[in-house]
Amino acid sequence: MNGRTAWMILGVAGAAISMLACPAGAPAADPHGTSSPAVTKPAAKPASPKPAASSHAEPREPAAGPGTKVEPGKPAPRQNSDKAAPSQPDDHGDTGASSVPFGESSGPVTAAQALALLREGNARWVSGATLSPNSGSDRRTEVADKGQTPFATILTCSDSRLPVERLFDRGVGDVFVVRVAGNIAGASEAGTLEYGLGHLHTPLLVVMGHTRCGAVAAAASGAEVHGNVKSLVDAIAPAVERARRFHPELSGPELAAAAVKENVWQTVFDLYRASPEIRALVGQGKVTVVGAVCDISTGKVEWMGEHPWQSELLEALRARDASKASATAEPAPAGH
Ligand SMILES: [Zn+2]
Repeated sequence: MNGRTAWMILGVAGAAISMLACPAGAPAADPHGTSSPAVTKPAAKPASPKPAASSHAEPREPAAGPGTKVEPGKPAPRQNSDKAAPSQPDDHGDTGASSVPFGESSGPVTAAQALALLREGNARWVSGATLSPNSGSDRRTEVADKGQTPFATILTCSDSRLPVERLFDRGVGDVFVVRVAGNIAGASEAGTLEYGLGHLHTPLLVVMGHTRCGAVAAAASGAEVHGNVKSLVDAIAPAVERARRFHPELSGPELAAAAVKENVWQTVFDLYRASPEIRALVGQGKVTVVGAVCDISTGKVEWMGEHPWQSELLEALRARDASKASATAEPAPAGH
């Protein structure tokens, strides 16, 4: 069983998760595939997760694998989160002259400031007006001697057209980066991210996919892959399934483009599912997690905000863990 098809692990919160999977008011298919449809989050929040009695409530879609499938996301991500959005969240990432100082002698930044730094840097990258801050020998010496204090953690794809520090116009010691084909989150990636968030105390985690991602395209096309590449494609497959379901009119590159966004939410969900540490940091307000997609043609990063169902997912996972703990603590019935 591949890790990403194991959605049934949240069966204890089945009712709530089912609502996450197919919430009332789910958006109609977006004919453009990659555009962000209007936010259609239902006015009423899903009910609190219910315990095992309702754990077999099924999403509308039959599960592809054994058990109850749940969804890591829905296709209508809201735009920039309130928590992390800078004061000028314009679509071009240009936050004006309010550049947040970062580097030598700067103190810790907030998630909103970290996001502003990335937005500003990306705007410079897109316009060709890069500053290449923190890139000199003095900066190298500084961070080598004093240690690293990056302001953001970023999980993205290994694609060579995605040079992270350059597309955010940042330098040495600025961002803590994990790169893996398809920007998936297995145990190694989750552990590295836990280090960036929990040990280095970066307040912002960006999970960033990109246009024309070969890994996602392979998963979307059903291409035959070999060796360890298969594990990457398998990890992306659930995102492709959702893209197909939400956008049945799409195929080929358009389907892959829709799957890129779904795969961002998939990864966020996988991280939450696998990492109580990250969930705790998010729940305590110490870390903000946002999705993003970089257009490798323009260099522009589209910000997707927080997972549209973040609070519900965190609550469902909390309930799952509580149920597991309760089951573990319960003594076996006598005589059996
Ligand atoms: Zn890629």
